[in-house]
Amino acid sequence: MKPVQLVVVGSVGLDTIETATARCEEILGGSVSYACAAASFFVPAGMVGVVGSDFPAAHTALYGKFGIDLKGLKQVEGKTFRWSGVYETDMNNRRTLSTELNVFGSFMPELPADYRDTPFLFLANISPELQLHVLQQVKKPRFVAADTMDLWINMARENLMKVIASVDLLTLNESEARILTGEHNLMKAARKIMGWGPEYLIVKKGEHGAMLFSPAGVFVVPAWPLEVVCDPTGAGDTFAGGFMGALAEQGAIDPIAMRKAMVYGSVVASFGVEAFSLERLERLTRGEIEHRFRTFQNMISLTPADR
Ligand code: AMP
Repeated sequence: MKPVQLVVVGSVGLDTIETATARCEEILGGSVSYACAAASFFVPAGMVGVVGSDFPAAHTALYGKFGIDLKGLKQVEGKTFRWSGVYETDMNNRRTLSTELNVFGSFMPELPADYRDTPFLFLANISPELQLHVLQQVKKPRFVAADTMDLWINMARENLMKVIASVDLLTLNESEARILTGEHNLMKAARKIMGWGPEYLIVKKGEHGAMLFSPAGVFVVPAWPLEVVCDPTGAGDTFAGGFMGALAEQGAIDPIAMRKAMVYGSVVASFGVEAFSLERLERLTRGEIEHRFRTFQNMISLTPADR
């Protein structure tokens, strides 16, 4: 196996999801599952997280199928993290029904020795306290990104601010950017957040795409237009995993690499939402990603290739 180039820390969960047309119980989810699966199309990715003794072996086998390095995935006595949520008909609004931390309640992530030299690190959605604990263990990563959610903005703001001050990139969805800054206008919110430390900020806007704020200015990508969205759970994690994987694969952190990574993130996320859990990503090929990437480029170009 090639050495891991991107380490991702986050939650592994068993999700129960209800949409207008379907209900799925205890399916594989969690921020690190989606992010690592997405990143694995680009570079060898290593997963850091925790599962309980009830975690199905089939899920671990699926991670293996993606080629994810599992040295940092701990299995401990107890129940795996569980989360459940329900979507409104338009899929943009989601309500959390329950969160059971279980083995996550007492978890302190320890990075395997060779992960401490990782060039790329993604702190996917977990408590800022755990994100800080991981930051203390890495030596000199080239690029660190972090994601968060409203829960931590409301409950763990002090530690979250420390995380924000220590990373190169923060990813948030638009409502979280507004709650975090108290600014409704996203340009003002972005300026405020970048003033706290990160050089880059990605604001995710669901079916309306994502915005990258950087010293080079603002870059916007739409979401790939889909007729049917089956389950948007994990779309943000899939986007971020695809983005970080594509950035690590390019090995450069410059405005062009960032733009390409934004498009790859959007493309991989668009596949992810076509089915529940990792079902679509499991069948996905790099060829399909490249095909949609080219069509995507054409979709946003002023000089379409078919003219
Ligand atoms: P997203 O749709 O990007 O918000 O990600 C959804 C995933 O986040 C689900 O698979 C959940 O298992 C996971 N999740 C939900 N709540 C939390 C939480 N408090 N901490 C960590 N992960 C969570």
